[in-house]
Amino acid sequence: MEEPLLLMLCSPSGAGKSTLTHHLLGAFDDLMFSVSHTTRSPREGERDGVHYHFVERARFEAMRDEGRFAEHAVVHQNLYGTSTDEIERAKRDGKTGIIFDIDVQGARQIKARLPQAVGIFILPPSMEELERRLRGRGTDADAVIARRLAKARDEIACYPSFDYLVVNDDLDRAKATVSAIVMAERARRRRVAEAAEALLR
Ligand code: ADP
Ligand code: 5GP
Repeated sequence: MEEPLLLMLCSPSGAGKSTLTHHLLGAFDDLMFSVSHTTRSPREGERDGVHYHFVERARFEAMRDEGRFAEHAVVHQNLYGTSTDEIERAKRDGKTGIIFDIDVQGARQIKARLPQAVGIFILPPSMEELERRLRGRGTDADAVIARRLAKARDEIACYPSFDYLVVNDDLDRAKATVSAIVMAERARRRRVAEAAEALLR
């Protein structure tokens, strides 16, 4: 079976990564969401094993020391990581693609380890709009929003390590663009070569 498409979606907080990830999972039922491990506490409505695997720090560190993470990073003072089991789970469940909602440090590590992984960076149309969206979401206190905005500049500076940049200005257009990226990546020669070879036989 063809290796699953490894799709990393990154953005500064508030640029629309969750919204676009949700869209892709609804649009393509053979895509799977990679459930990360984290040491942060669940937010209201978040379920263990669905949004994240919520674990104690000691458990996370033990998994890390056993080499069970494909990547891991410290984000906003908490530990986050993608277990290699998630990639195996996708293969086992016959999924043709996995979406990783990870930060820029994690995306770099995955790309170094699995160069065929595809990185999409979601950009806000402006820093003012990014702040408006963070405030509009209503989930973060003022101090948290200020910290996220300061971090956004450093994250945006990482854009050269990504394959695609999508400006999330008009939401419908951004949804169409990320869908088009999935379809284009699936049409890559190495993914479809077997079909051509079969015709030649
Ligand atoms: P992230 O996952 O990157 O932190 P979200 O997907 O949670 O960001 O989006 C942040 C907020 O901005 C949410 O309230 C979302 O509904 C809103 N949003 C996302 N995309 C757009 C867009 N193109 N135009 C206006 N609002 C948007
Ligand atoms: P949140 O705590 O708001 O869900 O996520 C905070 C940040 O951590 C987001 O940028 C998110 O993409 C990132 N993140 C979530 N899971 C992982 C992971 O497994 N690895 C890495 N490196 N970052 C992650």
